[in-house]
Amino acid sequence: MGYDAIIVGGGLAGSALATHLARGGQRVLVLEKRRLPAGKLCGEFLSPEVTDSLRGLGVLADVRAAGAQRIEHARITAPGGGEAFESALPAPALGFSRRRLDALLFENARTAGADACDQTKVRAVEGRIGEGFSVKTASGDRFAGRLVFGAYGRRGVLDRTLERPFLDEDAPLVAFKAHYAATQPARALPPGGIEVHPFPGGYCGLATVETGHVNACWIARTSALKGAGGDPEAMVEESLSQNPALAGRMSAMERRGESFKATSQVTLRTKSCFSGGVCMVGDTAGMIAPLCGDGMAMALRSAELAAGPAQAFLDGRRSAAEFRRNYRRAWRRAFRTRLALGRLAHRSGLRPLLASAVVRAFRWAPPLGRWFIRQTRG
Ligand SMILES: Cc1cc2nc3c(=O)[nH]c(=O)nc-3n(C[C@H](O)[C@H](O)[C@H](O)COP(=O)(O)OP(=O)(O)OC[C@H]3O[C@@H](n4cnc5c(N)ncnc54)[C@H](O)[C@@H]3O)c2cc1C
Repeated sequence: MGYDAIIVGGGLAGSALATHLARGGQRVLVLEKRRLPAGKLCGEFLSPEVTDSLRGLGVLADVRAAGAQRIEHARITAPGGGEAFESALPAPALGFSRRRLDALLFENARTAGADACDQTKVRAVEGRIGEGFSVKTASGDRFAGRLVFGAYGRRGVLDRTLERPFLDEDAPLVAFKAHYAATQPARALPPGGIEVHPFPGGYCGLATVETGHVNACWIARTSALKGAGGDPEAMVEESLSQNPALAGRMSAMERRGESFKATSQVTLRTKSCFSGGVCMVGDTAGMIAPLCGDGMAMALRSAELAAGPAQAFLDGRRSAAEFRRNYRRAWRRAFRTRLALGRLAHRSGLRPLLASAVVRAFRWAPPLGRWFIRQTRG
């Protein structure tokens, strides 16, 4: 059987798009390489904008019922750990693990009528909009679809086969994370808060998730990891020695059994909404700096933005050219400014002097800090 839409990747963007299209009456297949549920490297901070998207998908009540933590204020320390900027968030955010969230959205797509297969890695895509596509999996199966969507995240095997130009550019960031349990609750992360602690060459974000554990997520220049002999444990120790506020928090918590979840070659480079006829959503189209904590909101929103034009094309109301143009235009309008400010914030976060100056400026003029937080989100 042929599908109207085949979606490569069953993360947030892929599952959300599958749900929207299946609800619109399209025959949808979503293919996810991992076996779900599975953890994912992420700060696990769901910005306030995520709430609307989760409500639209019909899963907000499930997320709350699963124990998502309400987060109402943010604290950013200066690299030396002495000064800090604190602000109420524009609206409540949530702390929720990706292990639960990804599985919940994947199941939601299935409930909406999509065929959703995990443990299925896509190896290649061939075809064009208007003529149809063939999608080949690692186990040799082939599926036919009128449209194919790339929702496979920051970097994937298809980027190579689609010859996407961003692959030729530097991807100079590494990231890792783990969950921690409080051993001294009075000194661990206070409930209702998210914290960001910069150190030379990187920063660490702390947020509590539904289990009551704190997700600690480090992102740093590859050079910072190399300076620590390539060992995440050593780099974490180094970050603690450079930011006493972070050291204070971490000394009141102990890591849960898991080792670090790690990734390399993280890039914030500009990508594109279409490559070789494949329509890109979520991080596959472009990722905002993790410091902004808005990547999940953007992934879910980009699925909403793609669903309308795709639906119009599949129903024969719009041409292929209109589908491309309308999605590309909506994507740029929604995200261009946010991405640019996010890169700026990220670069400041990596430079100790600049990060200190920004924290000091935000402390001196709190409305400036609040304005900046607002501009980096929808
Ligand atoms: C260090 C770090 C911290 C972050 N912290 C936050 C935060 O606190 N808050 C926030 O909002 N955002 C954060 N982000 C960003 C956020 O994680 C992403 O923006 C979000 O996950 C994007 O969702 P997605 O669906 O586009 O991609 P993903 O969540 O990456 O999903 C892609 C899916 O595709 C699957 N896949 C890949 N290749 C294939 C293939 N060939 N075949 C089949 N399936 C495939 C993958 O297994 C994956 O499940 C962070 C990012 C980083 C790097």
